Amino acid sequence: KQPPLPLRPSTPALLMLRLASSRSAALGAAATRTQQPMSIRLVRVARAHSTQAVDEDEVAPVRPEISQAANMMDIGTRRIFNEEHDAFRETCRKFYAEHIVPHSGAGGEWETQQHISREAWLKAGEYGLLGINCPEKYGGLGASILEAAISWEECMYAEGSPSGPGFALHSDICIPYILHYGTEAQKEQWIPGMCDGSTIGAIAMTEPGAGSDLQGLRTTAIKQEDGTYVLNGSKTYITNGWMSDLVIVVAKTNPEAKGSAAMSLFLVDPKLAGFSKGNPLKKAGLKAQDTCELFFEDVVLPPDALLGDEGRGFAYLMEELPQERLIIAVDTQARAENAFETTRAWCNDRVAFGKPLIAKQTVAHKLAEMKTAICINRAFVDQCLMLHHEGRLDTATASMAKMSSTDLAWKICDDAVQLHGGMGFMWETSVARQLADTRVHRIYGGANEIMKELIARTCKTA
Ligand SMILES: Cc1cc2nc3c(=O)[nH]c(=O)nc-3n(C[C@H](O)[C@H](O)[C@H](O)COP(=O)(O)OP(=O)(O)OC[C@H]3O[C@@H](n4cnc5c(N)ncnc54)[C@H](O)[C@@H]3O)c2cc1C
Repeated sequence: KQPPLPLRPSTPALLMLRLASSRSAALGAAATRTQQPMSIRLVRVARAHSTQAVDEDEVAPVRPEISQAANMMDIGTRRIFNEEHDAFRETCRKFYAEHIVPHSGAGGEWETQQHISREAWLKAGEYGLLGINCPEKYGGLGASILEAAISWEECMYAEGSPSGPGFALHSDICIPYILHYGTEAQKEQWIPGMCDGSTIGAIAMTEPGAGSDLQGLRTTAIKQEDGTYVLNGSKTYITNGWMSDLVIVVAKTNPEAKGSAAMSLFLVDPKLAGFSKGNPLKKAGLKAQDTCELFFEDVVLPPDALLGDEGRGFAYLMEELPQERLIIAVDTQARAENAFETTRAWCNDRVAFGKPLIAKQTVAHKLAEMKTAICINRAFVDQCLMLHHEGRLDTATASMAKMSSTDLAWKICDDAVQLHGGMGFMWETSVARQLADTRVHRIYGGANEIMKELIARTCKTA
């Protein structure tokens, strides 16, 4: 019998959600928001075109889309959100500004040590920002995927889009595997610690010889007569790997079997004998992220380390990948918006040939092109978020969002560096780090060439 779950503390995020559900509190908070004048203006326009009498109290303010906002990252925008979401976003913004940004700059503490601190994980847990989309019963916030998406975005909206925190992978990739395929005992054993930040999660699929083609995995977990499994092999490029307290490992349980039937998932405790971690890898970007190699040498896994059914690992991965791709799409879209706003401000301030850069038509037109591309992609990403919220996001659509957003972010960050001139090439400049950090998004979570394969399947007629 499992011990009872610890009582859920009232986190700042939970308190904000509850506070915001009170209509008066939400309206009071909204009065201070920067977009209010724009919203009110748009309501007036909507009313002027309406033939029906309108009850003042019943009209919700019309929310501007990002193309209409003073700043794309303003709170109070986008039709998919409401005032409760805005209050939650304020909490996230405060958390990142106070607890993440001060450690995240160029040459800062986290970049130098190549990982963030345990305190930051615990603080995120204290704020209720780990397991936002996970039921309260297991220590999560019990909120929807939209609140989770707000937290992903706010990390990217923070100054310089900090690269260290692997919170989204932990909360919205690792936890769902346990929630969807774990036993009640596994959920109670692992998830509360993941929600309070004391247990850091990672997922290990990729190996030195197999990334895009997971059928080529060589790590094995062979079942013994006593029901245990013996794990051998290695993994590489594992996000959160160096700090991990729990790793979801993909291994072949039946190496003779053809295709997907060979693979299973395991919940592996890195403290087990025979499990070792490499040092965080030196990367071309995401320098504060503890990506590393993992090695397994005759690691004895208890029978209850198996996640779900033996031989179903590949099917589980395919089920969960759309959410992983949506996270990457949301992250990179938000990063592009952040880089654009930094560049817009720079072009208005920086003087060359006696005038601000934006006085040059070529510069102004470049900004116009950037803004248009970002706004178009934002509409699609928000559509995908709503599809996922409604349980209707399919693999091909998620792949389109992943591919288009990662290509967009790369292009926008490159343009941003160009418009910053020499300053744009300096590591201390946020757009330089954003360009470096966003390069990998076209590779991981499935390379964009693989995304095209998945999308192309929907283009063929029967
Ligand atoms: C910073 C970072 C973090 C990562 N985090 C994790 C993690 O947490 N967990 C994890 O398991 N993995 C992780 N990865 C691994 C990542 O998912 C893989 O690198 C990615 O899937 C590509 O696999 P690969 O590197 O083996 O490249 P390969 O599979 O060798 O492919 C190389 C290139 O070939 C091309 N290509 C491959 N297949 C095709 C095809 N069918 N058609 C056309 N072109 C193709 C693509 O351009 C691809 O980029 C991470 C990687 C990085 C760099």
